[in-house]
Amino acid sequence: MSLLDIYVLGAPILREETKKVDEVTDELRALIDDMFETMYAAKGIGLAAPQVGRTERVTVVDVDGNPLVLINPEIVLSEGKAREEEGCLSIPDIYGDVDRAKHVVVRAIGRDGQPVEIDADDLLARCMQHEIDHLHGRLFIDHLSLVKRRAALAKWEKLRKGDKSHTRKIVPEGVGRHHNRDEEL
Ligand SMILES: [Zn+2]
Repeated sequence: MSLLDIYVLGAPILREETKKVDEVTDELRALIDDMFETMYAAKGIGLAAPQVGRTERVTVVDVDGNPLVLINPEIVLSEGKAREEEGCLSIPDIYGDVDRAKHVVVRAIGRDGQPVEIDADDLLARCMQHEIDHLHGRLFIDHLSLVKRRAALAKWEKLRKGDKSHTRKIVPEGVGRHHNRDEEL
C-alpha cells in the first residue's frame, strides 16, 4: 500500500464527473486500499477518487471505526434536514456550515463486487453525501451562501500564500503533523 497525494481546491479533477465502474478489479481494490491508508493518515473520515487524482466512481468512508467502500454509489432516499460544520481534505483548514439531508439510504457496490445498501443518519449520512458530491465534481463550499463562499475562498487564498500546487503530500501518522480537527472529509 502507499500514501497518495491529495488534490486540493484549484485542481481541475475535483470538478470533473467520475466514470462509472464496470468491474471491480484487483487494480481497483489496490486503489481502494491506498485510499483508506491515505484517508487514515490524513485524519479524514471520507475520501473520494477525484481527491487522489482518479476518475473512478469510488469513495471510502470510515465514521466510528466502520470502514465502507462505495462503488457507483447512489442516494436512493433522503429525508430531513440538518446543518453542521464540514471540512474537506481537499480544502484543508476551511470549514463551513452545510445543510444536508439528515437521513439517507445509499445503494452501491462493495469491495467484493456485491451490492450494498446503507441506511444512515447524522454524521455518516453527511459524510456519504459529501463524498458522493465529490464523485460528481461538487465541493462542500458550493453549498455555502455566496457571501460565505467568498469568505471561505478568501481565507483559502490567504492560507495558500501564493502556492499554486494542485496536490499536497500526506505525512504518515506519528511524524508530527499538526491537526486540530478530525472530521475533514
Ligand atoms: Zn471532501
